[in-house]
Amino acid sequence: MYRRLIILSVIILAALGGLLWMGYHSIRIRAQGLEGARLGEFAAVAEQIRQDVTLTLDEFMRTEQSRPYTDYQYYYVPENVAPGQQQMPVLRSPLAGRLEQGLAYGNFQIEPDGSVITPNDNVDQRQDLTDFDNELFAEALSNRKNIENNLLPALRGTMGGPLKMNLESEIAPQVGPETVEQDQFAKEAAQRDKLSQSYLIESLQSKGQKTQVIEQKRSVLEQNVISNEAAQSQRQIQEGATQAEQITGLYERQTATPDENQTETVQVRIEPFFPVVAPGGRAKGDSASQQAESMFGGQVFLLRHVQIEDRHFLQGFQLNEKMLVERIEESASRFVRKGMSFELSPREDARNNGDVAHAAILNFGFGDLALNLKEIDPGWIGKEIRHLRIWYVGIVSIVLLAVALGLASLWHNAGAQIKLAQKKDDFISAVSHELRTPLTSIRMYSEMLEKNWVKSQDKAVEYYRNMRQESERLSRLIENVLDFSRIQRGRKKYTFNVGDMNKCVADVVEMMEPFAAQKGFSIKAELCRLEQSAFDSDAVTQIVVNLLDNAIKYARNTEDKTIIVRTKSDDRFILIEVEDHGPGVPHRQRKKIFEQFYRSGAEDTRETTGTGLGLALVKKFAEAHNGFVEIDGAKPTGVIFRVALAARM
Ligand code: ADP
Repeated sequence: MYRRLIILSVIILAALGGLLWMGYHSIRIRAQGLEGARLGEFAAVAEQIRQDVTLTLDEFMRTEQSRPYTDYQYYYVPENVAPGQQQMPVLRSPLAGRLEQGLAYGNFQIEPDGSVITPNDNVDQRQDLTDFDNELFAEALSNRKNIENNLLPALRGTMGGPLKMNLESEIAPQVGPETVEQDQFAKEAAQRDKLSQSYLIESLQSKGQKTQVIEQKRSVLEQNVISNEAAQSQRQIQEGATQAEQITGLYERQTATPDENQTETVQVRIEPFFPVVAPGGRAKGDSASQQAESMFGGQVFLLRHVQIEDRHFLQGFQLNEKMLVERIEESASRFVRKGMSFELSPREDARNNGDVAHAAILNFGFGDLALNLKEIDPGWIGKEIRHLRIWYVGIVSIVLLAVALGLASLWHNAGAQIKLAQKKDDFISAVSHELRTPLTSIRMYSEMLEKNWVKSQDKAVEYYRNMRQESERLSRLIENVLDFSRIQRGRKKYTFNVGDMNKCVADVVEMMEPFAAQKGFSIKAELCRLEQSAFDSDAVTQIVVNLLDNAIKYARNTEDKTIIVRTKSDDRFILIEVEDHGPGVPHRQRKKIFEQFYRSGAEDTRETTGTGLGLALVKKFAEAHNGFVEIDGAKPTGVIFRVALAARM
């Protein structure tokens, strides 16, 4: 029994240990998983932002690419002149009147001779210039100066010597080495900080854009050139240039000497935009502070090469960095997820920034921006895991407690079972013994009577009486065992009849008196007057018999061999008391003696016979009468058993 229990306990504890271990590791894995998933989320957000910014920039570049080359000049001559119209209309560029459109700032054209024109230069003859016009002209002038002072030297510097308009391939690679160098730099940064990741945004590169070749009517083109060159001269005069310094354009000469072989239309070749990073700040405002603000470490220009026959010039605009940053920030604020924040900074700041969860290096090819994605609450994963741990410890404690209680109760039950089995063994040996003693007496007396060994008639009567008493004892014993078995199986039936309980008690006393007398006892009945009540007379008889039997058995060595049987009543109960003056029952045993099979003392040293069923049955019978049994000490020694039976009709 215990061996199986030990094996079971070991298995349960081992399984529990395994579960605890698994739980602990699951939490660790969950923590790692959360961190990994969150890093993945950051990377996904950065990728979404990259795609969104790419879309915006692609669209912007598409618009700029499709912009007619004439928009970059002062005037343009519409292609489709109404039939019959003699004079070709000359219109101001649609870009005149504003410096910004989308991400482009201050569109301009670098003429073949290196001079710069912009659609917003003051070339108007008008006298009615408003403050707005003047402001715009001033800003356009500053823009132009910026291009002349910063962009042109940069272009000349990288290409060495004079500015060559037809060598886009020579200009474009100047971005190349810087990009390579920056990529190297990005790689180093990424190695130093594993959280950095580069996101390439190619929209502002020439890649993906196509060279456009358009046909233009020669007459329109020539008119266009004339108008613009006239305006250019006008502007130079306004700016105080001497006549000698005025630009005399190529086309002026061409138009002066018309060639017979000239075709009706002219091919205009417009190549894709390419970025150039020039030093210095923007044309607008204080250049030093603008430069400090630039995240790319300089001003970014997007240039395209235009070729009309053998005339080459560059067109372009400055990338509105402030607007670009705004677009990226707007995109980032749309895509960041719960608990995330972001901050855009120059690429250098992506490193050495402890609280950045993911530094997305937005690589535009000519320069990088760092989009630093952060946790608003960097400790949230730790907190979540702590909560999980608290729950885990709580649940584990409950499970451990439950298992401990379960095992304790199993062990307790096993102990009780073992004790019960022991008691049953004792019971069987006690019953056998109890049966053998009266049977031996009966056999002995009947043999003596049969063989006529009895000396006198009185002796014969005595033997007969002894035989009767022994048979009665046997009957009592068998009655107890049978009743106990019926109760155990739930088959015990009680018959409640209304009657006088005193009479039932008196009958038992009378029946037991000779047996008691033989053992030297006298039974005194003190019966109060009782109301009629309903009771099972067999059960009441057995209660009194068992109590008297015990009194005779356990008080046999005492001097005062008086047993008192009392009946009393109160409002609710009829009480039957049996008092003896024997050794009494120690306090600590007073509950136990009513348990089935319980007998005090060790089996082998016990002097009295018995089965341990007597008092258990008394208790059951009392309970069947909605009553109870209790025990009290008697004076000077001994015990009073009080059985309370509900006085019902
Ligand atoms: P049994 O008498 O067969 O042992 P019982 O259920 O009648 O079984 O009694 C249980 C135990 O109670 C006895 O073993 C005895 O120790 C104790 N007991 C019962 N009656 C008395 C009594 N009158 N005086 C002292 N001890 C008693």
